[in-house]
Amino acid sequence: MITCADIFWKNDTPYSTGFDDFYFNTEQSHEDSLYVYVNANQIPARISSKQKLLTIAETGFGTGLNFLLTAQQWLNKSSNGQQLHFISVEKQPLSHNDLKRALHQWKDFEPLSSKLLNQYPLACQGFHRLSFPDERITLTLIFGDALDSYKQLEASIDAWYLDGFSPSKNPDMWSPELFREIARLSKPGTTFSTFTSAGIVRRGLKAVGFEVKKQPGFGKKREMCLGTFIKNNAPQVDTKPWFSIPKPEQPTEVTIIGGGLSGCSSAYSLAQRGIKVRLIEKEQHLATAGSGNRQGALYAKLPVSPTKQGELHLTGFLHTVNLLKRKDPEQSFWSQCGVAQLATKENENKRQQELIDNGHYPDSLVQHKSDIELSEISGSVVSSSGLFFPTAGWVSPVDFCHLLAAHPNISIEQHDITNIEQVDHLWNLTTNNSKHLHCSHLIICNAELANQFKQTEHLPLKAIRGQVSITEDSADLPQLRTVVCGEGYISPAQGGKYCFGATFDLKGKQRDVTQYDHNRNLEKLKDALPEFHNALIGKNELLTGRTAFRCSTPDYMPVVGPAPIYSDFVETFGRLRKDKNWRFDGCTANHHPNLYLNTGHGSKGLITCPISAELLASMICNEPLPLPKTLIDAVNPARFIIKNLIRRAI
Ligand code: SAM
Repeated sequence: MITCADIFWKNDTPYSTGFDDFYFNTEQSHEDSLYVYVNANQIPARISSKQKLLTIAETGFGTGLNFLLTAQQWLNKSSNGQQLHFISVEKQPLSHNDLKRALHQWKDFEPLSSKLLNQYPLACQGFHRLSFPDERITLTLIFGDALDSYKQLEASIDAWYLDGFSPSKNPDMWSPELFREIARLSKPGTTFSTFTSAGIVRRGLKAVGFEVKKQPGFGKKREMCLGTFIKNNAPQVDTKPWFSIPKPEQPTEVTIIGGGLSGCSSAYSLAQRGIKVRLIEKEQHLATAGSGNRQGALYAKLPVSPTKQGELHLTGFLHTVNLLKRKDPEQSFWSQCGVAQLATKENENKRQQELIDNGHYPDSLVQHKSDIELSEISGSVVSSSGLFFPTAGWVSPVDFCHLLAAHPNISIEQHDITNIEQVDHLWNLTTNNSKHLHCSHLIICNAELANQFKQTEHLPLKAIRGQVSITEDSADLPQLRTVVCGEGYISPAQGGKYCFGATFDLKGKQRDVTQYDHNRNLEKLKDALPEFHNALIGKNELLTGRTAFRCSTPDYMPVVGPAPIYSDFVETFGRLRKDKNWRFDGCTANHHPNLYLNTGHGSKGLITCPISAELLASMICNEPLPLPKTLIDAVNPARFIIKNLIRRAI
């Protein structure tokens, strides 16, 4: 759980009551931070050296002063084609208001500081990726303890800013375990600097492989220290080699099969990085299958206590909202109207009470409301109390896909790919009318059809039928102002129509819209919104609908990452059948070169596709990854092979 920092303001300088210290030098904040972090790590010279990707990591984001000072140097000295990736951890984030007050005093950081405020995440534990494409800057901001956060990071760091209050005031942070993680994320030539010259810090960094020097500190401070990484003195054994990720050369062009949310967001994330994308869709238009509904609810159903699935959904939800806010600030095809999640059953009521009592989520994300309050907020009488998500809402997935695919680096082609084969380092794609296409890198994003190829046929993907019902808006219907979820969901009217549903049919194969399913959707509506349902009586024959198939997996997590070579995995890790704790020292997992997957998003594509796309693009471009290691492993396509070996099913 994350608690915001308790700040006492002395004029415009924030003071942490928890750590009993100021966030920065009260008189010469910029000069001090430039001297201790930016210049001591030779950042200006590194930017001018035209290094393509410069990755800096920090302990203690605080007000973002170090980030903004670094960005200022970056904007003055970098050129097109260069990227800055700044990573920072923060255990007690400033509230949005405190950050606003801190940034308000520094006009020279505009407009980046305003953009930072706009994207500053809700106080939710975990990874948050902020993008500043005009500045060619990415900020991965991790809310959590430095050690826990850096244990979960996959990145290769060029320079470390070790901030985070002094070892005497904050002894827990400066631990040998944190120094080991810093070493794991460093490479020969990585530098560090810190305002402190405490022996515990110098000895700790030396012990893990840094050459450590002292130099005079800023102003009245006697000493600070800095240094360079030579080699890791504590090599670490990969305990799960089957989840290792190949590190390819960055491609100039990538081909993607599938033009739904997964394919379009993968294309967008790559296009943003300057990579040309050929997006292949077998139908005439994008988003005709699972991503083709008029409206989808944009919210994360949260577990009472964190689970991997809940963590992915929450991270993905925040990521999608951030992306939509940047790409469509007018909310022309989405709406941040709020989502009411009703407790229509007693066990759901208990679950929701527990969720609020546990306090894992901030008020700004989710609040408990009575039925009267929710009726008032939503615009129609609701049947029960429930949770309200003020920053959630709905999206038109079709329009979202079109917006993402409209990037100038993306070209769309219509083909039905029936076979893929790697020949001489190139993927050879065969179409249903025997045409051949070639590419170096390929991402498969075509939902349940992703296992139609022999390289991917082992993936346990399942199509789950769903039907939504659609009715015309009219004067005698209550005007919904928010999305309302019970057993189903309904969004405010869009384009003169209400869309509600959806059914969940594990076995159904039929594509037609049925009255039977309309009735099931009406039943769910009746349980949640009796007034709205009553107003629909007699209009049932006017209902239209749409049927689609969601692609699901046995663990309800998506499939995102490099495509494993099935036979190789079974042979290399076969020993798991006899001993699931076997240490495969030195074994590496083999993947189909430059073949990736992004599928299995079920009905959660709006919140899982954009973050998964960002994960894939970061893997393909060898950048810091936007999710914690546990989640990257949890979506790794190889997990099914490993689980099956352990339970001796193969
Ligand atoms: N770099 C910041 C800036 O530019 O504004 C100033 C950082 S302030 C001196 C130290 C920061 O470290 C505080 O925001 C504090 O909450 C954070 N911090 C302290 N202990 C931490 C820990 N164990 N993990 C993550 N952050 C921590």
